[in-house]
Amino acid sequence: MPCMPTLTLSKWSDAAGRAFDVDADEQGLLDLLARLAALEDRRPEAYLQAVNSHARRTGRHFAKTELVDGYRQLVAAGKLAEDPDLLRRITRKPMRTHSGVAPLTVLTKPFPCPGECIFCPTFASLPKSYVPDEPGSLRALQNAFDPFRQTRSRLAAFQAIGHSAGKIELLILGGTWSAYPREYQTWFVQRCLDALNGVESTSLAQAQQINESAAHRNVGLVIETRPDAISPREVAHLRRLGVTKVQLGLQSLDDRILALNKRGHTAAEMRQAVRLLRGAGFKIVLHWMANLYGDTLESDYADFLRLWSDPAIRPDELKIYPNSLLKETELYRDYYLKGLYQPYAEQDLVALIARCKPHVPPYCRINRIFRDIPSPHIVEGNKKTNLRQLVQQHMAGQGSRCRCLRCREVRRQQVDPRQLRLHILPYDTDVTREFFLSFVTPEDGVAGFLRLALPRSSAVVPIAEVADAAMIREVHVYGPALGVGKQGQGEAQHRGLGRRLVCMAERIARDEGFSRLAVISAIGARAYYRRLGFTLGDLYMTKPIRTISA
Ligand code: SF4
Repeated sequence: MPCMPTLTLSKWSDAAGRAFDVDADEQGLLDLLARLAALEDRRPEAYLQAVNSHARRTGRHFAKTELVDGYRQLVAAGKLAEDPDLLRRITRKPMRTHSGVAPLTVLTKPFPCPGECIFCPTFASLPKSYVPDEPGSLRALQNAFDPFRQTRSRLAAFQAIGHSAGKIELLILGGTWSAYPREYQTWFVQRCLDALNGVESTSLAQAQQINESAAHRNVGLVIETRPDAISPREVAHLRRLGVTKVQLGLQSLDDRILALNKRGHTAAEMRQAVRLLRGAGFKIVLHWMANLYGDTLESDYADFLRLWSDPAIRPDELKIYPNSLLKETELYRDYYLKGLYQPYAEQDLVALIARCKPHVPPYCRINRIFRDIPSPHIVEGNKKTNLRQLVQQHMAGQGSRCRCLRCREVRRQQVDPRQLRLHILPYDTDVTREFFLSFVTPEDGVAGFLRLALPRSSAVVPIAEVADAAMIREVHVYGPALGVGKQGQGEAQHRGLGRRLVCMAERIARDEGFSRLAVISAIGARAYYRRLGFTLGDLYMTKPIRTISA
């Protein structure tokens, strides 16, 4: 199989194609890097103050990409000693990989969606629901929706800003995944993996096998689809593609609201989809919308509470998408212009979400509370992309607090493993007994967690291969993204937390009467689970649970 050239970016160029000339600013750059290396105050304000006090010869400040590229060039020229801690500090957007995994988003080609949701925009050049100047859309358009080119260009971007891309979570977005022909889906995933592997494959299975030991390993594969597209057959197909996490558009649990907004499915269908996915061990991300046509602030609040009181729902992650009113929707044309729909005022929306968030249980992660739609597209209502901060300020003013996973994860903090305590949170769904295991710092930060699902009976597991097994649905240990095999400096990654969590899960499963433990492993995590005693079956990895003699 032909090898493709290794991706290297020895010289950074700005958006206009001008190379950054380190020689012209060498002394200024050395001074600034020395100051940043010596900076004891780790707050972002201190970092920015230092950067802003060192201008380039042109009079403007160093961009973060210039700092990273300049650092590399100076180290390569022997003019600066290698300093991993400094490199970590100057890496742009550290938040993007604080969970130890670099997220890489790609979009599928424009394709009809079976849904007719009145709030969903249509642009001929894009998959349903996407807007042309969203960052992900722009990148996809630039690369003609080609999965290989999109993936390679994101890898190049990670490298240019100093991120390790050793562990990649691949997020495939674009309307409804299940509506695309299966041949297209298979080809799309294979080409993404080819790009990660740097090697052309002849089949998806071959691309998956190569990725097990590739430099850019796929440690999570996420798709988004509709609840009425989920069936036992679809679940098995997703697993064969290597999918580990499914995003489902829930939007509301109120059948009246679903019908008014022409969602085309019911709350009962949503429950069945979640059941099937949970029974098969997938991580479940739900999208919930506020301010749909027919909603009120009170009905939204009541609906949000149902996410947790209904044992058939209880998602692992949630995206809160307040309805953004766009001109390219039926909602705008046939409802708003006729005075039948009115977006909430910003302060009402902030108060609503601040009222909802404290109800989120610690096992759930709130990934977003606003969809990143460029404000010129939004006709009326909230246009602020920092809605999360506004909500946090509102909550702080009221003395309330969110304990969702995102609000508690340790991010880039140093973790002392001796001070971590194991916390076990059991909870029930209508098809499983779930255990959310987490290592928690004295300050209530989460350094790592594991999701264990114990099916109530083999009948709730749609895939025969694992019908009798306890299922590890997720293991996640936080820390900045590291290349495979590299060691961090005190972050939670690579400190054996994952192994300890898996041991504890095995013990719980044994105590609950299970004799086999399965894991829904991403392709790039297979080697890790092999080291823990798991072997690869058809769609899952499993191991027998050791019994303890009396
Ligand atoms: S199912 Fe999703 S993509 Fe399709 S029309 Fe509805 S909101 Fe848009």
